[in-house]
Amino acid sequence: MAINVKSGLENYSDEPRFHFDIYAILEGSQELFFGHETQVNVNIVETVIIPLPGNDEETNGDDELEKCYLSPTKRRGVERRALIWAPTGNELLGDTLNCGIPHTCSQAKCPICRVFGGLITSPIDIETEPKGKPEKRPETTLIGRLTHSGGVAIQELGPEEKQRAMHPSMLTKDPGKEPTPTPFKREYNQPGLLYPVYNHCLSMTEREFSAVAYAFMGALARLGAGNPKGVKIYDAPLIKEDVDEPWIVVDRYLAPLGKRPVVSPTIKDVEKAKKQFKAAAFSVAGRKKEAANELADGNFHRYIGDAAIAKLSEYLIKFEKGELNVDAEIGD
Ligand SMILES: [Zn+2]
Repeated sequence: MAINVKSGLENYSDEPRFHFDIYAILEGSQELFFGHETQVNVNIVETVIIPLPGNDEETNGDDELEKCYLSPTKRRGVERRALIWAPTGNELLGDTLNCGIPHTCSQAKCPICRVFGGLITSPIDIETEPKGKPEKRPETTLIGRLTHSGGVAIQELGPEEKQRAMHPSMLTKDPGKEPTPTPFKREYNQPGLLYPVYNHCLSMTEREFSAVAYAFMGALARLGAGNPKGVKIYDAPLIKEDVDEPWIVVDRYLAPLGKRPVVSPTIKDVEKAKKQFKAAAFSVAGRKKEAANELADGNFHRYIGDAAIAKLSEYLIKFEKGELNVDAEIGD
């Protein structure tokens, strides 16, 4: 019998495929909680320990560094939910596709699973609406072509611990009748921390990438567990010395010619980190380019700052038209 050597990826269009990357520095505008574990009434945030190279005068004799962390797996979960809960008409996108978490539909035609991947470990029956014959789904593995990385904060600023209490909504109560608020402690990532993050997309059509763009931008307001939530893309001079721009780079390419604007987790000085990001952002095919919003070299295209947001916005609209395709006119 002949052997199948193909990837198995079903094609629904003849659009060309590219690799895409998003590099960004995110800023927490308030404290954030990304849970790690609970220790005797304390909710701990996730941190990472970074070993430092020896004999570096900057390390002050320390051989490791503890930093707050916006872990890529958590960011991925928030992004996936941004798609599952996207509005389409009177419904949510995931409901129209019968695709959720943990039960992904794992169908190649699903715009979410197609890029994030899906897994059905054994055959299952899915309820259908209105109640009818259950939909049978076989054991399926669909490998995602979107990967997440980064997330280690730049500044070495440990979590802060705060006292919290759950206050009942009663306005009056008899003394001693109801329990007093239960205090607990929760750690938070401090405001102003900067998190360099990266998304990579393998061999995607522009339509497929539109879901990634929508998820990335949609997740910004919702990152964090519990409340408060939300980050923004860090704004500061990037191309021109006196104009603030969002620190974001979007690449579309066949061959990876651009130097990746990835900040080393061992750097704790913000200016040093920005210098490293910026130097890489303007470096293509091993050559330093003049600072500009768009850089190109053959099939390699890089969009920086405001131009990256403009490019992503094109994909956001593409996603809205292609997948949320509803006349969402708001009545007076
Ligand atoms: Zn799906």
